[in-house]
Amino acid sequence: MKKTIRDFDLKNKKVLIRCDFNVPIKDGKIIDDNRIVTSIPTIKHAIDGGSKVILFSHLGRVKTEEDKNKNDLSIVAKRLGELLNKEVLFVPETRGELLETTIDNMSYGDVVLIQNTRYEDLEGKKESGNDEELGKYWASLGDIFINDAFGTAHRAHASNVGIATYLPSGIGFLIEKELKELSLLDNPENPFIVVLGGSKVKDKINVIKNLVNKADKILIGGGMSYTFLKAKGVNIGTSILDEENIDFAKSIIEDYPDKIVLPIDVKVTKEFLNEAPYRVVNVTNILDDEMGLDLGDETIKCFNSILETAKVVFWNGPLGVYEFSNFAEGTKKVLEKASVIPAKVILGGGDIVAASTELGYKDKVTHASTGGGATLEYIEGKQLPGIVAIDDLV
Ligand code: AMP
Repeated sequence: MKKTIRDFDLKNKKVLIRCDFNVPIKDGKIIDDNRIVTSIPTIKHAIDGGSKVILFSHLGRVKTEEDKNKNDLSIVAKRLGELLNKEVLFVPETRGELLETTIDNMSYGDVVLIQNTRYEDLEGKKESGNDEELGKYWASLGDIFINDAFGTAHRAHASNVGIATYLPSGIGFLIEKELKELSLLDNPENPFIVVLGGSKVKDKINVIKNLVNKADKILIGGGMSYTFLKAKGVNIGTSILDEENIDFAKSIIEDYPDKIVLPIDVKVTKEFLNEAPYRVVNVTNILDDEMGLDLGDETIKCFNSILETAKVVFWNGPLGVYEFSNFAEGTKKVLEKASVIPAKVILGGGDIVAASTELGYKDKVTHASTGGGATLEYIEGKQLPGIVAIDDLV
């Protein structure tokens, strides 16, 4: 068990919090502030505890001077101030006198956000390479370190592992909740049903390897299912194929014939376009110039009846090109089922959470994980360095 922010007396302390404010920005505006909103409980707890609250986050990648302008975190300070209904100071630098005097001059209960930690990547990848001197410097600015950025917990960076090395540390409420919900999958109750979709088999190999023995069934849809169908000798036309992983798909089908469930029928079209005419065909009737972009009704029925038996469900990846309204039906109807069954349903790893938000099911399941890569690495059974580095509760 890791220490949490609750395990510290925060009064008159300088508390460094690593948040994940990596929000999508378009035309100079934040288009989804969910990551800021979900950071608020930890930040409020530190304010109410009477500390100087010093926030760190990355935003995008910084490889050029131009990236710096694109990924300036001041926009987040403004939004955070609105959400907290309180002034949030912003220091447009990642180190130096201005930063140090700002912290010195803060009152307890004040909040400051430091510029994008990845500005430090421009010369020598100091943040992403977990530069020792940088981690030590940032740690010198505070008394306690709280990691609440689950999205980067699978990376050892200066702003998580680096700082944690030099300060008493704990996790924030967001990471605490992620670990609690995802731990349901460590020893899941059976029947345990896994739903996998998305485009590439490559990204899910380790997830399949780690879950195949625990799962009762693995339902495979979306782009990745065509590599499995190809491995069975089905003509998939121009559907997306992960050529390098056909052999892996073949071995999984051969080793676990009763566990792997593939589409029976699919919605095919000749062009990768929402408006393109489509038809629903049995998978054995895909023509050479057709590509599958969604599940057919038989498959939806089959997946949904298996879900009805579940006690625990883990789902990664959409079951079709959900961004196109004409090809979102499979993802939508299976999400709908997942939202009403009496099972614990965990969505995790990137696009399925975006799909569930867009299609209105995110709040109707047990947990929609915020982690992307971190969630997948957790599911793969890997240790997350950003969490390993945090002090254990003794
Ligand atoms: P992933 O990041 O692996 O979860 O993949 C998500 C992407 O897979 C989404 O952008 C979907 O549009 C895409 N996708 C799902 N099904 C298909 C399909 N049948 N053909 C092509 N792309 C797909």
